[in-house]
Amino acid sequence: MQNITPGSRERVLVVGAGIGGVATAVALAQQGFEVDVVEITESTRQSIFGVGIIQPSNALRALDVIGAKDACLEIGFAAPAWGRKEDAQGNVLFEMPGAPIEGYPPMNGVTRPELHRILLERAAQEGVAVRYSTTFTSIDDRAESVRVEFSDGSAADYAVVVGADGVGSTVREQVLHAELRPTYIGQSAFRVNIPRLPGIDRIILQEGEAGMAGVVPIGPELAYFFLNVPWPDRSVRPTREELPGLLRGYLAEFGGLTGEIRDHHIHDDSDIVLRPEEGMIAPAPWHTGRVVLIGDAVHAVPPHLGQGAAQAIEDGVVLAEELAAADLASGASVAAALASYTERRYERCKLIVETCIGIGRYEIGTDPAFDHVGETQRTMEAMVAPL
Ligand SMILES: Cc1cc2nc3c(=O)[nH]c(=O)nc-3n(C[C@H](O)[C@H](O)[C@H](O)COP(=O)(O)OP(=O)(O)OC[C@H]3O[C@@H](n4cnc5c(N)ncnc54)[C@H](O)[C@@H]3O)c2cc1C
Repeated sequence: MQNITPGSRERVLVVGAGIGGVATAVALAQQGFEVDVVEITESTRQSIFGVGIIQPSNALRALDVIGAKDACLEIGFAAPAWGRKEDAQGNVLFEMPGAPIEGYPPMNGVTRPELHRILLERAAQEGVAVRYSTTFTSIDDRAESVRVEFSDGSAADYAVVVGADGVGSTVREQVLHAELRPTYIGQSAFRVNIPRLPGIDRIILQEGEAGMAGVVPIGPELAYFFLNVPWPDRSVRPTREELPGLLRGYLAEFGGLTGEIRDHHIHDDSDIVLRPEEGMIAPAPWHTGRVVLIGDAVHAVPPHLGQGAAQAIEDGVVLAEELAAADLASGASVAAALASYTERRYERCKLIVETCIGIGRYEIGTDPAFDHVGETQRTMEAMVAPL
């Protein structure tokens, strides 16, 4: 067992090797901390769900800080504009320029496994060790440090423990002392990878009676297709074999690009994902003592603006900045740094969560008055503000 030595490189534990956890580990290591990461699954592949990740400009700016932006742009698809909205037949309704940050494209699309690979490579370069098939069995905040016992029988002392264990976080119980669960918004999303067909050079939405369809480029040759539909009872889960026929049925009314995708790119053996959409913003503060939360553990962001991972990465960058300026030997200094981290993050994350929930409710017809166009633009513009 190792103890913290004041004045030496301080040791930080990150629980969870998702997008937020690995990005945070890199940001902390860049600031000179010695970082351990534990991940409960055997490999991050097991915890990767879904198909692609939209990276808005603010995500790219945060990835730039941790040295991962260029690799994302190299393997992804950088769009010349955020997107376009069409009707169900493919007639253009309006263009969506987005809110780009100078020096970054309005959005880049990547696959989730590639993003993970890039982040893990950066972590390895920074000397961060990820221990798989490992979790904590106890976290004991002893004021001067945190004693953590692990499922492999080992134990260690840390200056700070970061809970990056996602939406079902168990570290959260320790920090917030309250049961907190995301709210299901009554909408689920079908997603499937397709070839990047001609014309898919940005997000293209098609609004129909059945729901909001869309395509997102996520590589030079690859895109993903999605359909957000009202789905009142989240416990109803069709089998994998049922999904292609179900999706094609929902898409019956569509023409244009979506009609083409329905007819030629959704096959009986297509690997379709159906995900319930949920939102949550944990009350501040996001820490207690020396234990702090980041990412989906404190803000589950519905996917409508492609901001969930972006916010988790931004959390990591801000947290690392705040801890770098603190004296980790002093509990009061750590508390002040963690309070400052929440203060810098809370309103921004709350805005994103609330806007996405509003868009979801507009799409399923439970809040038809929600100004989804205006609120989308306002929220995207807010993301341009410096961290
Ligand atoms: C369908 C869908 C589409 C999305 N699309 C986008 C998008 O286009 N753009 C975007 O920015 N975001 C998107 N998101 C959101 C994004 O995926 C999440 O916000 C992001 O992955 C959050 O990262 P995280 O590290 O906080 O959590 P996670 O990625 O969930 O990682 C948590 C990790 O912790 C591990 N873990 C859990 N418990 C423990 C434990 N006790 N001990 C150790 N390890 C543990 C898990 O195995 C996992 O690896 C989407 C989400 C969904 C559901």
